[in-house]
Amino acid sequence: MSKDNLKIEYADINTLKPCEYNPRRWNKEAKEQLRENHEFAFTKLMTCGLCGSGISAEEKYKKLKNGTVAKYIYYGCGRSKDRHCKNEYLREEELIEQLIKLIDKIDVNDVGLQIKFEEESKRINNFNKGVLEINNSNKKHKEINLKTYAKYVLRSGSNEEKRELMGCFKSKIKMMDGIINII
Ligand SMILES: [Zn+2]
Repeated sequence: MSKDNLKIEYADINTLKPCEYNPRRWNKEAKEQLRENHEFAFTKLMTCGLCGSGISAEEKYKKLKNGTVAKYIYYGCGRSKDRHCKNEYLREEELIEQLIKLIDKIDVNDVGLQIKFEEESKRINNFNKGVLEINNSNKKHKEINLKTYAKYVLRSGSNEEKRELMGCFKSKIKMMDGIINII
């Protein structure tokens, strides 16, 4: 196929249908997330411990000695309440490590988290059956510790999965001088 006879059709996201093999539900929230997938995972959850503004994030690029470019994401005060707020920035990796340590104390929506876990299990079972030809779908998973699952998503999940997980957090978190804490 040459470039000339390649026809590009644009479609509104609301008219798209999920693939049949994809067990994820395309609810309103999921579509929202597709639309704004550039958004950072942890901004909504946190406020500035110094002035109470929301937390915003920015990407920084740094050229390394070997010639490659590393991307860093920093979270800091959005300064909507205090234009001169001096609160420190926190790098995303560091934030995730702190969240993992904090997670046992965080109040989560267990039902929401359970649903996400079931969806993920279904997806993995389908992959095992359809691609690896391992059939373990009738094996019932033992009662799992949802907090363990939440830590797994924080470490290994995609940005969207982390955002979905954040949606299950009921605790609000404040950030102060590079340290996060439950409010
Ligand atoms: Zn602030």
